[in-house]
Amino acid sequence: MEQGVFQIGPIRPPSEANSLLLRVTENCPWNKCKFCMLYKKNDFHTRSVADVKKDIDVMAEYRDRILAHEHNGEYDMEAIQQEYLLLPSDEAKICYQMVFTWMTEGDKQAIFLQDANTMVLRPDWLIEIVSYVRERLPEIQRITSYGRANTLARISPEDFKNLRAAGLDRIHSGYESGSDQVLTMISKGATQEDEIIGGKKVKEAGIELSIYFMPGVGGKSLSNENAMETAKVINEVNPDFVRLRTFVLRTGSLMEELRDSGMYKEQRDIEKLLEIRKMLAHIDPKKAHGKIASDHIINLLQEVTGYMDQDLPWMLEYIDSFFALPELEQKKYQLARRMGFPLDWKYLYRLQPSDQSRIEEMSKNIVDDKEWEALLHRFTDRYI
Ligand code: SF4
Repeated sequence: MEQGVFQIGPIRPPSEANSLLLRVTENCPWNKCKFCMLYKKNDFHTRSVADVKKDIDVMAEYRDRILAHEHNGEYDMEAIQQEYLLLPSDEAKICYQMVFTWMTEGDKQAIFLQDANTMVLRPDWLIEIVSYVRERLPEIQRITSYGRANTLARISPEDFKNLRAAGLDRIHSGYESGSDQVLTMISKGATQEDEIIGGKKVKEAGIELSIYFMPGVGGKSLSNENAMETAKVINEVNPDFVRLRTFVLRTGSLMEELRDSGMYKEQRDIEKLLEIRKMLAHIDPKKAHGKIASDHIINLLQEVTGYMDQDLPWMLEYIDSFFALPELEQKKYQLARRMGFPLDWKYLYRLQPSDQSRIEEMSKNIVDDKEWEALLHRFTDRYI
């Protein structure tokens, strides 16, 4: 292994944007989901515990060297710059910078284990790695990882309890849908039963569970099924977080084959919001208490967020208030959001006058539904 270097994988959940990243496995062991283009060209590998420990040692060493330049809460930036320039390679510089950014701007108490499904690793290996993180980086208060539902369902309750005792705090899992029909169509390689069994085991071990739901991934024909069956899984499992990721059919993904064969018909942008509403309306606040999080720009109404046992009425009302707007106002807001303006629909008037008139003109002039959806898609395809 190159001196002063640790591996950095390509992705982490948005909620882990400020966490330190520790690569425990490389790429995705499943790699067949039709909507996903992340690791298609890369083979899966596990990393040896010894190599991962060496990475943790490099992180701890950089942390110590950076801390040595801190005096009375201030960093001596000149000394840090000197140290950075003397590092043996560009890769080492990137790693040093990552630790520095994590210490100064990130969440100093959080680390995320990469890549796509770390939970596939032998539990005793994972326990050794998690324990070593706790030993060498004692400031860490939260250790999180991705885990696919099918993998979670196969891990024993005892292994989960041991992982929790070693210090694993949260598992993120891309459930995408609670419907077996949808899961089969998108080749998720997991069933509703896996989601329920796996999710319950995670929760029973005292590990937080953060699941992802893709409104729209079932297309027009399975929209109702997607909403209802996902609500059912949420009610059964009571996850700590349900994170919304509105589905957009990405250019170049295998979903295009389903569309071209006529098996999949993408919903209109606005219909996916209706699907979110339906899913929310079928969550039972007596059974599900966690948080609905809309922490991705791809969701049309990012304000739809809150606790399932307290805020569902408000969330439904908020969606309804959007649908009560005149069609032109809905279109203007849709376009503004898809162009990347991060605002509540009530504050459209705060945009620059030139942006407002451009949006108004396009919203009025494009009357053909297909053309309108194609325009929105051109924007969304860019930022997912
Ligand atoms: S399990 Fe995750 S990373 Fe792997 S193919 Fe599916 S969505 Fe992509």
